[in-house]
Amino acid sequence: MDHLIIVNKKCPFDEAVKPCLVNFGGTHIKLEKTAAIFLQRMFECARSEGIRLKLFSGHRSPEYQQTLWQQSVNELIESGMERGQAEKTAERSLAKPYFSEHHTGLACDICTPECDDTQDDFDKTPQGKWLMKNAARFGFILRYPRGKEAVTGYIFEPWHYRFVGIKNAEYITAHSLTLEEYAECLAQKEERK
Ligand SMILES: [Zn+2]
Repeated sequence: MDHLIIVNKKCPFDEAVKPCLVNFGGTHIKLEKTAAIFLQRMFECARSEGIRLKLFSGHRSPEYQQTLWQQSVNELIESGMERGQAEKTAERSLAKPYFSEHHTGLACDICTPECDDTQDDFDKTPQGKWLMKNAARFGFILRYPRGKEAVTGYIFEPWHYRFVGIKNAEYITAHSLTLEEYAECLAQKEERK
C-alpha cells in the first residue's frame, strides 16, 4: 500500500484501495499492517523511557465515520446551532464519511493511558511532547499541525498521527511540512526530471 496516500476534504478515499488491516497490540482497534508494526515499536520505545501511550482510534469504515459525523452534528444542533452552521463547525475537526484519513488504516489517534478520547491539550502532556520529538523516527508525522488549517483543512489536532514511513516522516518533520506540501514538493521534483 502507498504510505503517502492523501485523503482530505478534497480527495475522498478510493474504496478500491484495500489496506491490509491487523488488530493493534491485543486491542480491537485495526491498523494497516506496517503502521501497526511501527506503532508497536514506538509505543515500546516510549514505554522504555517511562512514557505510556494509548491508541484510541485507528481504522474506521465509512459507515462508522457516518455515525460519528451524525453524532457530532446532532450534538451541535442540540446545543442551539442551525444545521448548516453545525455541519460547518463539525467539519473543522471531523471528516465526513469517505473524506477521513482513518479509512486508510494509516492514521492513529493517541492519548494518555487514563483517557480514551481526543485531548485538546495533549501536546502539553509528557506523552504529547514525547511524540512531537520522536514520532518521525518511527515513520509517523503530526498530521494537522498548528497554523496549517488552510493547507490541511483541519484545526491543530495534537492527537492525530499518520504513518508515512521513516524517510518521509523525517523529511516532513525536519522541514515543518504537511503531507499535502510534501506531496507537492515530490511532484515538482518529478516534473524537473
Ligand atoms: Zn484522527
